[in-house]
Amino acid sequence: MSLKKLDIELLVPDTGAEKGFGWTTFRNGLIMKFKAVLFDFDGTLTKPGGLDFSVIKETIGCPADQPVLEFIEDLPDPDQREKARSILEQFEISAAMNSEPNPGAEELILYLRSNNLRIGIISRNSLQSIHQTLKNFKNISPADFDLIISRDEPVKPKPSGDGVLLAAKKMRVDVSSLLMVGDYVFDVQSGKSAGAVTVFLDNRPESQSKTIDSDYVISELEELKKIVRSGVTTSGS
Ligand SMILES: [Mg+2]
Repeated sequence: MSLKKLDIELLVPDTGAEKGFGWTTFRNGLIMKFKAVLFDFDGTLTKPGGLDFSVIKETIGCPADQPVLEFIEDLPDPDQREKARSILEQFEISAAMNSEPNPGAEELILYLRSNNLRIGIISRNSLQSIHQTLKNFKNISPADFDLIISRDEPVKPKPSGDGVLLAAKKMRVDVSSLLMVGDYVFDVQSGKSAGAVTVFLDNRPESQSKTIDSDYVISELEELKKIVRSGVTTSGS
């Protein structure tokens, strides 16, 4: 296998680029290893800190060391569950109104699109809050994503790998050619268990990368372009 350092421009496919399962082969002979990028949403495409989980947990009585969705699902009383869900949704919507794109997020999405990669979002948030948040993005909209898997989708949420596998299937790519990008351990765990290539976005004030076993670590979204470019070869695999 030979890896070539290439300029961004070289990655833009010719009009004859062949799309479909397996590799994408370009007329100039270049082959792209990565065909799809699946992003976590909160703290990855948006600036970190939008949702304050410690306040949410306190409000619904969830212990600090338990994930919110699982805690709610395990509540014995249906009324309690309904109430906790609606409190969570209120927090999400108000966070969505105020959230902003992470630096470089919009430009990265446009870059990936121009290079013919498929792009998705996988989030433990509701679809409504994701759409609300995307209204605060100036240059991209939900239409720029091939799919959005929220918790409204009937698939086990992260850290399960089921959603990542579903995304790969829907985007018609092999999961091994999919980059799973996120800022939390659940993102990396879900990608790993599905067989995707994982990228940890280490963008909090305190680095967490030592405790997270991802294939790549980046500190800002811009660096993802290098990873995508590193997967461009002139010969198979
Ligand atoms: Mg996140």
